[in-house]
Amino acid sequence: MRIRLDRTMCDGFGACAKHAPEYFSLDDWGYASLIGDGTVPESDRPAVLRALLDCPVHAIIEMGGHPPLPERSHPVPHEAAEPDLSTADSEAMSEFVR
Ligand code: SF4
Repeated sequence: MRIRLDRTMCDGFGACAKHAPEYFSLDDWGYASLIGDGTVPESDRPAVLRALLDCPVHAIIEMGGHPPLPERSHPVPHEAAEPDLSTADSEAMSEFVR
């Protein structure tokens, strides 16, 4: 697991440091900093995940959690022509003309 901390979002609630003090430190005002490069071994995953889920402003982000999307195996169909949306023949619209 790899995480990132967006310090611009941190509001200093301190939940992260409570759950995973090895990964988050708080400054004098309670704002968090990430300790280390964000790499979390599997053994520490539950505590860090708890910190991530308890952060009220979602400042802790899990990185690279999804594998890359596979290449498209089928061609992208051409878009259909835009329908004619003119209102010249529309009775409903003509009632609004004064
Ligand atoms: S839990 Fe979130 S808001 Fe609170 S100190 Fe940690 S990162 Fe900041």
